[in-house]
Amino acid sequence: MARYTGPVCRLCRREGVKLYLKGERCFSEKCAIDRRPTPPGQHGQGRRRNSEYGLQLREKQKARRYYGVLEKQFESYYDEAARRQGITGDNLLRILESRLDNVVYRLGFAASRKEARQLVRHGHFDVNGHRVDIPSYLTKVGDVIQIREKSRQAGRIKELLEAAESKTIAPWLELDLANFSGKVTRLPERDEIDTPVAEQMIIEHYSR
Ligand code: SF4
Repeated sequence: MARYTGPVCRLCRREGVKLYLKGERCFSEKCAIDRRPTPPGQHGQGRRRNSEYGLQLREKQKARRYYGVLEKQFESYYDEAARRQGITGDNLLRILESRLDNVVYRLGFAASRKEARQLVRHGHFDVNGHRVDIPSYLTKVGDVIQIREKSRQAGRIKELLEAAESKTIAPWLELDLANFSGKVTRLPERDEIDTPVAEQMIIEHYSR
């Protein structure tokens, strides 16, 4: 299945929450969901009744869109989360959070997950000293993610590094701007993940 390349603000309006898919714009007054919080389309303002299945489906779609993951991959994350010990919903969110594109975004090395995905794909990052250009690469505790030497002088990366100085970094990550790097110090707790989804409904969706 191809990746969605249409207008992304529609996705936020469909889900009714900010999914932060457009970087800086999401924090500005131009944000579409702040200006027009109704679902997209001609009948977006109409009354909508959702079945239990529909609600569960929406939660799953919201999480998929938030992290930019395709259906098949999302399903395999669910399988892996169910296999792991502990609460499946928490495991699922931890797996999604540990994706390299998400960690790059959370460290402030990109303005959105989409940009993080592109920077990773273009080979701007090393993980533990080795170039990794796979956005879905799952980082582990102790992994060090570093901007490659050749990339540090690129205009956009310099801009992002300047902005990163004032950003709040997730407590399970450690940022070392002097070394252009960040480290995964531990797995995040559920209350440290600000993803606006009810993960239990996603689990119910897949357990049907
Ligand atoms: Fe969503 Fe960002 Fe568009 Fe706002 S600007 S609707 S948060 S993608």
